Amino acid sequence: MKKNKEIYNEILELMGETPVIRLKNIEEYFNVKNELYAKVEYFNPGGSIKDRVGAYMLQMAEKENLITTNTVIIEPTSGNTGIGLALYAVKKGNSVIFIMPQKISMEKELLLRAYGAYIIRVPGNVSPFSVMSQYKIAEIIRNIIWEKRKPLSKSEIEGIVSYIQILINQNNEKELKKIFEKAVDPNNYAFIPNQYFNKNNPKAHYRTTAPELWKQFNGELDYIFAGLGTGGTISGIGKYFKERKDIKLIGVDPEGSIYHHVKAGLTVEEALKHSHPYLVEGIGKNIIPKTINLDIIDDIVVINDQEAFSMARFLSKREGILVGGSSGAALFGMIKYLKENNIKNKKAVVIFPDSGRSYLTKFFNDEWMKDNNLEVNDEIILRKLFDECKI
Ligand code: PMP
Repeated sequence: MKKNKEIYNEILELMGETPVIRLKNIEEYFNVKNELYAKVEYFNPGGSIKDRVGAYMLQMAEKENLITTNTVIIEPTSGNTGIGLALYAVKKGNSVIFIMPQKISMEKELLLRAYGAYIIRVPGNVSPFSVMSQYKIAEIIRNIIWEKRKPLSKSEIEGIVSYIQILINQNNEKELKKIFEKAVDPNNYAFIPNQYFNKNNPKAHYRTTAPELWKQFNGELDYIFAGLGTGGTISGIGKYFKERKDIKLIGVDPEGSIYHHVKAGLTVEEALKHSHPYLVEGIGKNIIPKTINLDIIDDIVVINDQEAFSMARFLSKREGILVGGSSGAALFGMIKYLKENNIKNKKAVVIFPDSGRSYLTKFFNDEWMKDNNLEVNDEIILRKLFDECKI
């Protein structure tokens, strides 16, 4: 994949080779004595870092004969992985069904629908063990399709999707449980890539994001900061860099997620007692997915919704870079970590996973902020962090 062609054969060729941008104004404003850079992943054709993962998981599934053009692709996704999967799937003629929590923005749902995807919404506050969780709903749909043992028409898929949505809306756990527990022989009419368990998720970053970063810095980087969602980004990039040099890998986790508690030594059960809902999208978890390697991560910084949103809102005004809340979170976490640990004269890069365009009616809208009891004066929030900053 080389981005120096005049004309491309398909959109997928434009994946990757995203730019790194120095955050000069942020360095100066916060008086950070380090060089700060961002790898800006919204330059991918579907608008996020997850294009890399979606496409690679399907490419590998094809190679392993897990899917054909008749396979329905089903995935629990907060949106961005869905777009990556959809980009690849529509080119091949596959149908896609995505299961997302209620809190995910309407823009993301409409975006996925624009790519032809079917959407199912599940309540955001259910336990990952509940039959109403997005993971279990994906398996329920897969079971129904497996049971049919034939390629499905669009109207048959639509029928299944609306049936399941009705059961969810009716809170009909009994019926959902019945389908979930039904033993069905696997076949390739339905496939769940499962970004939380698929080794090709971190591998996509090991094979693309990491070598790009290495090349962009000629290996001369001291810190990498990334938000923790599935952990694929940090684990894939981290493995590549740590095989080559001693670099510090710092994860950024929202309050309410369990990663930082588990990293600090709590069991998942203990950590879950601290878990609570939060608003920032794409990062934090109430499970420990197979795709995260907590051991490779040197440290985790904890941020909250307000800090993530204030930083993203501030960044667009200071640097002209419009990013999502998880990017704001990662940048806030980076500056907090460097300042608190009195780190100087280092080169640090932060990963910005997606664009702020998906959140214009959410945290970029002051009314939404106020409705969620969040402060709209970003500098008030950012000021408390930075004792030395020149406000
Ligand atoms: N930010 C956003 C907006 C995302 O969609 C994701 C993916 N869930 C992440 C951050 C985290 O990336 P990863 O899953 O690789 O940890």
